[in-house]
Amino acid sequence: MKKNKIEKLKEQLSPWEYYQHRLPNLKADEIKDADIFYLKNFGIYTTKQNPKNFMLRLRFDQKEMSLDTAELILDNINENTKILLTARGQLELHGFTFEEVLSLHYLFKKHGLTSCQTLTDNARAIVTDPLYDIAEDSIVHVTPLIEKMQKLFLEKKEWCGMLPRKFNTAIAANKTLITPFWGNDCYFALAKKDDTYGFHLYVGGKNTHFAQECDIFVFYEDVVALYEAVLQTYLVHGLRASRTKARLYHLIEEVGLEKFKELLQTYYPKKWQSGGKTVVHFHEPSKQWFKLKDGGWAYRYFTKFGEMTKAEFALIIDFAQKHNATVRLGIDQNLYIINLTEPNIEIDSQPHTILACAGSKYCIYSLFDTKEGAATLPIARLNRHNITVGYSGCLKGCGRHIVADIGFVGIRLNQYGKVERGVRLYMGALHSKGTFPARLIFWAVPLRKLNALIETILDIFEKSGYDSFEAFCENEINQYEEEKVAYFLLLRMKGEDVKISELDLPSHETFLALQKELFSS
Ligand code: SF4
Repeated sequence: MKKNKIEKLKEQLSPWEYYQHRLPNLKADEIKDADIFYLKNFGIYTTKQNPKNFMLRLRFDQKEMSLDTAELILDNINENTKILLTARGQLELHGFTFEEVLSLHYLFKKHGLTSCQTLTDNARAIVTDPLYDIAEDSIVHVTPLIEKMQKLFLEKKEWCGMLPRKFNTAIAANKTLITPFWGNDCYFALAKKDDTYGFHLYVGGKNTHFAQECDIFVFYEDVVALYEAVLQTYLVHGLRASRTKARLYHLIEEVGLEKFKELLQTYYPKKWQSGGKTVVHFHEPSKQWFKLKDGGWAYRYFTKFGEMTKAEFALIIDFAQKHNATVRLGIDQNLYIINLTEPNIEIDSQPHTILACAGSKYCIYSLFDTKEGAATLPIARLNRHNITVGYSGCLKGCGRHIVADIGFVGIRLNQYGKVERGVRLYMGALHSKGTFPARLIFWAVPLRKLNALIETILDIFEKSGYDSFEAFCENEINQYEEEKVAYFLLLRMKGEDVKISELDLPSHETFLALQKELFSS
């Protein structure tokens, strides 16, 4: 079987052997392309473009961050360290030299805080809802499952860096969630069959595709064994010829879901059951307070799209200490302060409904700062209507733009007279059901026209009478061709009082002419 060059590297030296024998003696000026791959397996990230700048990604398999751990981090970073809360609830520390990042890795590891297997070809941190086990409608405890699932692969030679590509896992047992998990390679979604709660297995999701339901009802006690079988299936049968076609999604696309299930069955000792219904609802995206099972409260501290300074992080930890509270990292780039006795808090944060990827300050693939772009959106109006936004800096889609009501992907464009920044615009996702990803409606909207277009979309939605943007799209938008939707929005932006149901699909030239008229500077 043909193998890509990273696979050939792994055959020569496994990442775990590298960790034991090469990393302890590695010097900054010895770092080559191969080292960049190996280092990623231990959460140490740099790029060829900026080889003196290092980031450390710390692993949180949705455990609470103990206040001791927070203190440890705070004691070992400086005022200039940028703290980034990722869209998978991981903590990244940016702005180190190689020597600094390596000594931080070893120091944190000594205190039980690992950065292992947080990047590249690994089972990344297992995510769940930030209110796992404690929400009013939490059905079963997922912590014991996550601990056992993590033990299958973490810091093990046969798993560390040995999967064909990244592998994202989610499990959720709260009826009401903060964010959807359809973009995970493997998702155990709360499900009910007759009177029994268990999970439905979804597989093959990624940032740009929803996972597929396998019609497998998994009992609580079978989750770990089935998860191990999914991992084994991917390890053994995953595609390794091309890095761009190596996710679990591609294996399932190649062999089909039924064949994938046949392969899966060979690694799973029991016969599984089918049937049941996935149970999933969502909190309002700008909600700040959550009542907990034990009568206490959780507060969602909205970060500035995942970015925090040391001083801001220290303030939150200090507050948690004073109130005997704990802190959890959310998969929505926000922090959750847990166990408050009253829904009152003396620190403030600005609610928003936006998830923004790392952007150009932290990621070489981004053409501009998506977090800065997010801050310029009409946040108050989006909040008022609970309209979620996913902002990705490139098509890799870390801002989960296809799982949001309105999604953006940053681009550079030149069709309106000059080279400038802009976005592709997506909408229409049926994200709460996980049945229909957002469609690409506009290929190139200049940033300078983006808010005018969004305000137009919001005007139309407000007049539609629908309670949710999702229902509005499902009933009024998604049945029409993408270009017709775009044409309709442009006509409305121009001030014409047209109905989409009465419009004919325009010729492509007509559409382009109108787009040019409205988007030219
Ligand atoms: S979406 Fe693209 S630009 Fe944004 S963090 Fe992911 S890879 Fe980087």
